[in-house]
Amino acid sequence: DPVEEQHKAHERPLFSGLPGDIAISFEFFPPKSEKMEAKLWDAVNELAPLAPDFVSVTYGAGGSTRERTHNTVARLIAEAGIPAAAHLTCVDASKAETQKIAEAYWEAGVRHIVALRGDAGEPGAPFVPHPDGYNNAAELVAGLKEVADFEISVAAYPEVHPDSDCPQSDLDNLKRKIDAGASRAISQFFFSADTFFDFTDRCLAAGIYAPVVPGILPVTNVAQARKFAGQCGAVIPDWMDGLFDGLDERPAARQLVAATVAAELCRRLYAGGVRQFHFYTLNRADLAYAICHMLGRRPKDIAS
Ligand code: FAD
Repeated sequence: DPVEEQHKAHERPLFSGLPGDIAISFEFFPPKSEKMEAKLWDAVNELAPLAPDFVSVTYGAGGSTRERTHNTVARLIAEAGIPAAAHLTCVDASKAETQKIAEAYWEAGVRHIVALRGDAGEPGAPFVPHPDGYNNAAELVAGLKEVADFEISVAAYPEVHPDSDCPQSDLDNLKRKIDAGASRAISQFFFSADTFFDFTDRCLAAGIYAPVVPGILPVTNVAQARKFAGQCGAVIPDWMDGLFDGLDERPAARQLVAATVAAELCRRLYAGGVRQFHFYTLNRADLAYAICHMLGRRPKDIAS
């Protein structure tokens, strides 16, 4: 067992001999400008040879990127031939509007939706359901299944979603999303393997048997990540500040530190049995590519 051997052979390099027997997916955001579009496609072209199981494209707050998300997903499928999933939120939209968007996806050949509730437009403001809309992601999943037999992924929160009154009700919510027809959960980012293992243990105890895929965010800017984390049910550990202290003017060193931290997290997850990884790429290939490589993943001949 290569993992067992890793544990025992302390004298060996940490990442030696990993077979790359993992499922991987990459998350992108829809580009705003031509320059950003070129950057996205550079990243896609670099990552595609690693043969991801799927890639996904986010949906801007309140549906602000509706067209761009659609176009990016459609192009990934039609031109790049990569299985692509569209993120879709139900905030600020009626059920009829949301269903129409889903129908257009199905017609464009999109078969996989990452179904999310979304957040209020103003950061920190409470979520208010649209009067004719879905109240939460579980209702959205059921509504999408009425439109067509989409493959559906949903969000999971190892450190509990901020709107939840307790961890158990957040788990109950995840179970409702799976029971409504989702086949996979993708986790919010986190930085401790134990946090993830505790969460997946609790999922199993709650009868959630669908795969819970860890979402990996390679952090290069702690201040930015901390700002974002506060709003979304993730904790940035204090030790991370120290790790990036003094690197503000050293982007190359920051990249190396970010890759090392994320790769070590992935190695621990792998050693604990995780075989699926979802990478928040922020439309950059380097870090995700390097981490996949260290996990043993090599380019495949994607033409065959
Ligand atoms: P839900 O599953 O509906 O849960 C929201 C909260 O309500 C939870 O606290 C839940 O426990 C509670 N809840 C739900 N139903 C009930 C009920 N019946 N009774 C009591 N409590 C209930 N946002 C975007 O805008 N665009 C994106 O593309 C996007 N992609 C994401 C991808 C991933 C992998 C993740 C993890 C998050 C993403 N988000 C995205 C953020 C997401 O929209 C927010 O985290 C949002 O606040 C919650 O969405 P959800 O689908 O988890 O909501």
